[in-house]
This record gives sequence, structure tokens and C-alpha cells, in this order.
Amino acid sequence: MSRRPLIAGNWKMNGLKADGIALADGVAAKRRAEPDLACDVLVCPPFLLVSDVARAVAGSGLAVGGQDCHAKTSGAHTGDTSPVMLKDAGCSHVILGHSERRTDHGETDAEVKAKAAAAHAAGLVAIVCIGETLAQRDGGETLEVNRRQLKGSLPEGANADNTVIAYEPVWAIGTGRVASPEQAQEVHAAIRAELVKLVGETEAGKMRILYGGSMKPENAAQLIALPDVDGGLIGGASLKVEDFWAIARNC
Ligand code: PEP
Repeated sequence: MSRRPLIAGNWKMNGLKADGIALADGVAAKRRAEPDLACDVLVCPPFLLVSDVARAVAGSGLAVGGQDCHAKTSGAHTGDTSPVMLKDAGCSHVILGHSERRTDHGETDAEVKAKAAAAHAAGLVAIVCIGETLAQRDGGETLEVNRRQLKGSLPEGANADNTVIAYEPVWAIGTGRVASPEQAQEVHAAIRAELVKLVGETEAGKMRILYGGSMKPENAAQLIALPDVDGGLIGGASLKVEDFWAIARNC
């Protein structure tokens, strides 16, 4: 089954307004210059820059996403951002359950599931992140952990149009240590097999599973070429236009 790859940049908590707009302008210019690019491209700026970035990339073919959202539409939740607000500000996607959210904010699978359901209700594509720690990999628990997180984080109604999975081994995020093609394919294939049970064969065959964890121009081609890898969620390398674009051109 052929799936159109997605290359998603997670800017995390980096950049002030001028930096974010310059980065967005740079990526949008690349996208405009290559209308036949073989993948979808998404940028996920910090919340405060979402509106400015959405304006900067309008009409370029680039999509914009948030890095998290609340599970409620509105209400007494000081400091939080609802999926409806993200949609209103120009987002089409939202990253949920990133390992930094799970670690820094104690987010559980159940919370990620509730957020994903709210994102779907707001018309956003949920990018649901899962991945094992180094201790879990060393303990031989990799596949079990990923299956458990997937099952616990996917809401009712998840399908290939409203959901993307990102497999991000925690030990590879921001460390420069990347999963080998064998390690990545093994987990991606196991995720797809679990998806068959959770969303059915047709949706599982269409759903995109991204790899994330120190993806760079030098290693992207061999990862993206793997049968069950449908693009990347990219942190550090998404902050440089040339690096991010070199990855997108590998699709
Ligand atoms: C990420 O934060 O999702 C990520 C994969 O980061 P990096 O590419 O820097 O490892």
C-alpha cells in the first residue's frame, strides 16, 4: 500500500518571533519552489508563534501544527490551549504525547487519548507519539511498551485521515543516537500489526507511521525508504531550513 510520507518539524520551545517567521518563510519558499514534492510537510512552532507562522506560510502548501493541546474545548484551565483554538489559529495538526510531555508533565496514555479525541472533534489530525526508553529497550520490552502505549493512546474513531503515529525511541530524541534501519522497521511493523487489531486492516494499511529521533539529512533516506516508515518527526534538524528541506527531499 502506498502512503504519502509526512515530514513534520517539531520546533519545540525554540525561537523568538523573528526567528520563527524567518524559518517559516525559508521553508515556505522551498515548498513553493518544489510544487511536485513527493511528501506532505508540516511545521509545529511554539504556541505563541502559531498564528504568525500560519500567516507566513499561507498558500505555500505547508501545514502548521501545535505541539500539544488540552482535552477540553474551553474553560477554567489556566495556561492551556484548546484544540479549537489551534484550529482557529491556522493549525491542521497537533503533536500529542511527545516523550517530553510524558516526562516533563507526567502525561499518561489516557490523557493522550482524551486529547486525541478532542483534537479529532476539532478537526485536527492528531500525531500520537509513542516510544520506549533505553532501559525498556535494554530490558527487552520495546515491542510490548509500544503496543501498550499505542493501545492506550488511540481514541475511538481514530483512522488514517485523522491520526498519524510517531514512533520516537526516547533514547534517540535529541541525543544524536539514531535507531538502525533494522530497529526502526521492527518496531514500525509491530505498530502496524497492532493497528490492524485497533483500527482494522484497511485503516492500518493507510495510516502513516513516522520515525522520530535524531533524524538528519545523512540518515533520513535509509529510514524513510523502509517499508513501514512513512516519514519523520524531526526536532533539531527542523530548525535549519537547509537541513529540514534536505530531509523532505528524501521522500
Ligand atoms: C522530536 O523532538 O520529536 C525529535 C525527534 O527530536 P530530534 O530530531 O532532535 O531527535
